[in-house]
Formats: sequence, C-alpha cells, structure tokens
Amino acid sequence: MEIREKIAAAAEAIRQSNSTIAFTGAGISVESGVPPFRGSENALWSKYDPEVLDLNYFYNHPGESWEAIKDLFYEFMFKTTIEPNMGHKVLAAMESAGMLDCVVTQNIDFLHQGAGSKRVYEFHGTAGRVVCTKDGCGYHVKPEELDMDTLPPRCPKCGALLKPDFVFFSENIPVKAYEGSMNAAKSADVVIVVGTTAQVMPAGMIPIVVKQHGGTVIEINPEASAITARYTDIYIPMKAGEAMGMLAAELGLEVK
Ligand code: NAD
Ligand code: ZN
Repeated sequence: MEIREKIAAAAEAIRQSNSTIAFTGAGISVESGVPPFRGSENALWSKYDPEVLDLNYFYNHPGESWEAIKDLFYEFMFKTTIEPNMGHKVLAAMESAGMLDCVVTQNIDFLHQGAGSKRVYEFHGTAGRVVCTKDGCGYHVKPEELDMDTLPPRCPKCGALLKPDFVFFSENIPVKAYEGSMNAAKSADVVIVVGTTAQVMPAGMIPIVVKQHGGTVIEINPEASAITARYTDIYIPMKAGEAMGMLAAELGLEVK
C-alpha cells in the first residue's frame, strides 16, 4: 500500500471505531527537539550509563544520579523552550473532536498536556514535578523552582532525598496510570502507536492488549519497532509530525 492509501485506511478505522486511544513514546517529541533514549546520534544513552536512573543506584549514589538527571533532563529543558509539535497537536484536536478517548504516553515531557490533551495517562510519570521520597511527607516542587546548585536536593520539610516524579528503572508504574491505561486498552477498537520502540515493558503491552482484544493497531514510526511485524495492521513509516498532519487532513480536522 502507498502512504496515501495507508493514511486513508487509518482514518477509516478511526471513523468506524467506538474507542480510539493513542500510545506514544520519545519519537513523538523528537520534532520538538527532545532527544530520545535510543535510535539517534544525540540519544541520551550515548552519554550516560542507564544505571544512573536505576532506583537502587539512585538511593546509593544520589549525588551522582542527580548530576546526570540535571544534565539529561533539566538543564536542557530550562535552556530551550520545548513546544508541542504537529503530532501532539493532532492528538489533542482528535480528542476535542470526540475521535480519541485518551493518550497513554511513556514520555515525561508533558508536551501532550501542552498541546491541549486532557485525558493523558503518564505511564512513566513526569519530569515536571520533584517529590520527597519519604512516605507520607507529601512535599513537592516544580523543577524550575528547585535549587540544583547543591546536589542531591533535600526536602525542606523533612530532610529526606528529593526525586523527580518519573519512573526509574526497577521502579513500579504509578497504579492509577497503569490501571487506567490497561482498561482503556482492553476496550479500545483502535490504537495509534506513535514514536516508540515498544520494547520497554510493561508499557509495551498497551498495543498488544488492544490487538488481543480484537482491535486495530496503526503505527507511525520511521523505523520498525518491536511490534511492527507481529501486531501492527497499518504501518506508516514516517515522522510523527508529517504523518499526523496528513491524518488530520484526512479526518477533516482543523489543527491550531
Ligand atoms: P526510545 O527513545 O527508545 O525510541 C524512540 C523511537 O522513536 C524509535 O523507535 C525511533 O525510531 C522513533 N522516532 C525517532 N524519531 C521519530 C519521529 N520524528 N517521529 C516518530 N518516531 C520517531 O523511546 P521509547 O520507545 O519511548 O522508550 C524509551 C523510554 O524513554 C520511555 O519510557 C520514555 O519514558 C523515555 N524517554 C522519554 C522522553 C520524553 O519524555 N520525550 C525522551 C527520552 C526518553
Ligand atoms: Zn519530605
């Protein structure tokens, strides 16, 4: 099938669907200038050992982990203004037009909310909040309001270590996001998978669950992913922004 036919088939599946969801990864934010973890020359793992984001490593070497976290996520975020791109915007427009139930994202960059998406499950939490690690303390702060000159940062209320509110390796998925997105996947007729290798588990189960419940998998990614050969019904090998722009036009959506 040619790209145009694939876009038309994707739009038709979405129009016929009672429940469409989106499942997104780092690739949808690449056109906004956010580096992905894998599959690019400035990918984050070319710079640091992923163990700096392992929960146990973090508790044992909080200073070292925080230096990496600051460099990887925050300095970069504060230096450049990151704006949602066409990919995020089309998903938001689809939701307001009643064509999309929710976005399940593995991203921690809150660009979906920035584009206007309301129902977003942040499967891996968010970089937009830093929280106290002591049970029951409840202190949290915006990263831009946190003093990162002396690392690791400590809680001003109780002195415990502060941690970004995103999911570290070997850390559990936030219960609400996990349950909400799995339920959405079970009842979805269509999932639009955008910009993910789909190899990080359990997040990667989302499109598989949709497929196992009889749904259709539409996938947008310039490179084939872990699910393409086995689970994807309509594979659109393009960048997120371009493909989503074409899809929006086909669906007759106006995107601001
Ligand atoms: P990944 O970094 O492992 O893979 C990126 C994927 O995006 C690849 O499949 C690549 O082919 C594709 N891609 C690259 N450019 C694209 C484009 N313009 N349009 C569409 N697709 C494109 O990302 P992942 O699969 O999401 O999994 C890694 C984990 O990394 C996630 O858990 C996520 O939390 C985290 N992460 C998040 C961000 C972010 O918040 N923006 C950035 C880096 C990593
Ligand atoms: Zn505290």
